[in-house]
Amino acid sequence: MKSMSVRNWPVKKTSVEPRCGEDGAHPGQGLEVDHWLAALPQSAGILSYEPDGLSVVAGNDRFMKRLDLYRERTSGNEGNDQGWFDRVAAFIDSGQESIGFETRRDGNLGPEYFMCTLGRLPSGETDAPLILLTVTDRTTERAIEKNLRRELLSDGLTALPNRTGFGEEIDDRLKNNAWPEHAQFGIIAIDLSRFSRVNESLGPMAGDELLITVAKRLKSSLRQGDVLARIGGNDFAIFARLNNGLSDSLHIVQRIKEAMSSPIRLSGLQIRVDCAIGCALSINLQEDPDDVVRKAQAAVKIAKRSGKVEIYRNGVLKEAQRRFSIESRLRDALAQGGLALAYQPLIHLQTGEITGFEALARWDDEELGRVSPVEFIAVAEESGLITSLGRWAAYEAAQALSRWDAKFGQPLPVGVNVNLSPIQMARDDVASMFEEALRYSGVDGSRLTAEVTESAIVADPDKARKLLFALKDLQMPIAMDDFGTGFSNLASLHSLPIDILKIDRSFVSSMLEDRDKAVIVRTILSLAESLNLRVTAEGIETQDLAHALQKMGCWQGQGYYFARPMSEADAFDYWRARWNFETV
Ligand code: C2E
Ligand code: CA
Ligand code: CA
Repeated sequence: MKSMSVRNWPVKKTSVEPRCGEDGAHPGQGLEVDHWLAALPQSAGILSYEPDGLSVVAGNDRFMKRLDLYRERTSGNEGNDQGWFDRVAAFIDSGQESIGFETRRDGNLGPEYFMCTLGRLPSGETDAPLILLTVTDRTTERAIEKNLRRELLSDGLTALPNRTGFGEEIDDRLKNNAWPEHAQFGIIAIDLSRFSRVNESLGPMAGDELLITVAKRLKSSLRQGDVLARIGGNDFAIFARLNNGLSDSLHIVQRIKEAMSSPIRLSGLQIRVDCAIGCALSINLQEDPDDVVRKAQAAVKIAKRSGKVEIYRNGVLKEAQRRFSIESRLRDALAQGGLALAYQPLIHLQTGEITGFEALARWDDEELGRVSPVEFIAVAEESGLITSLGRWAAYEAAQALSRWDAKFGQPLPVGVNVNLSPIQMARDDVASMFEEALRYSGVDGSRLTAEVTESAIVADPDKARKLLFALKDLQMPIAMDDFGTGFSNLASLHSLPIDILKIDRSFVSSMLEDRDKAVIVRTILSLAESLNLRVTAEGIETQDLAHALQKMGCWQGQGYYFARPMSEADAFDYWRARWNFETV
């Protein structure tokens, strides 16, 4: 390595005459190189490039002074010299006539910046290439630029970074700090909820004062390395490095709340500052910080409405929160009779008669709005609420039948299908539940069909078998719901007391366009025939589908083409208006 070194930048005075003067016709004739160099306003020197290093051939006073300084500063640091050697070597290899570049080094008073040029000179006495190096100090200009930039990137009132400055600070931290491999960062967005009212009632000066105080308080809740910014009129944001994911950000949120808890004195008044807080966590360090800022802003919007700290973490946590609120609202709804059953007609495809209705749970919540049963049944299953929900549905369905009968003056020739969840079947005594529901309403068991799914049978075949036989003892028909989507083997079907197969909507609705689906439907129909089962097709949305299934010999149909699920009263009217007359 020693041979490559340029450590000492030796000054080898050799005579280098500018060739341009040689023919005697040029005004430079007779002038020494030193004169040319001395005439330049910047530091300038001539270097000779040799395989074992660079040496200085000539240089003006400025250059020689700089060189002395450079030697003082870099003594003992060969890396610097090697850097210069490599740069010059690359320049020579490039074949370019001249290049310019900026260098930065740490000076005593902060970073110093130099604009340098390298230019090719004709070689002198030796064949070593000669290079003209000029160096111009740009430190002052860069400092001015930096100040201007800082103004552009910061908020004049609080001196915090603004939205643009925030982005740059984050980029800087992500690039220049050492981060552990699986690190995450979080953005905490803070919105001063009542800020505009302060502005309106106390004037903009008070508003400014409030912002400055809030900025100070927020700053006091930061940890080292966190960045606080004012990203909008009354919006602040914090960038935080998270070593322990969510719990770190909740910790910061706690500190923010504490910092903001005591009232702020403004124009002789004590003002309590409410703020909405939303957090977002990055998936990893590669995620675009702008995206995370946007997620935090989305979370803070929700927080403004909910009055709670909201967390946006790639849907996951939000979902957990939603599940949690569904669970607690559903618990209340079940206790207070907030659920209803909707009834969707089941149509005899050959005669067009209404044979019955499927009872489907409906829930309109004050806060959550209409929640889909797909969503709340899943939450009910997870939370164990499914047993009371299932009990309620069975009683309610049997009661609806008896109310219809009372309205009509005699038993209606229709039944109601009730859905059973596999979890409910595993945890509750479903047979005695139905027995009670039937007894209580005085309805015949043959009018209440239990819809079970394959997964309930696969989960615990023995228990399922016992239950199904117990339901048969109550005269209840049993339908296998969503048939075709599960794994039940045909042998198990054969040995279970099942009466009806309900072909899943996913096969029915596209069977006219999709040959594979049509084959499945046909197979189920012929399987059902050989097992002596009746078949209901779900999800019939068009007349074509209804006709096709009728031709294929399917027993019963259900779907939007006939009717959507409707209220108990509407279902009764629907039946009464059509009984005896309906044709497909
Ligand atoms: P499911 O048992 O398969 O019920 C049929 C679903 O298909 C219902 O959705 C119904 O509204 C919908 N549907 C009916 N005809 C059509 C059609 O032509 N096109 C389309 N696209 N959809 C149609 P819903 O009411 O949203 O219920 C969803 C699921 O929630 C039900 O699926 C059932 O698994 C469950 N569920 C509903 N109520 C209860 C209940 O009381 N207990 C239990 N355990 N589960 C329930
Ligand atoms: Ca069903
Ligand atoms: Ca179904």
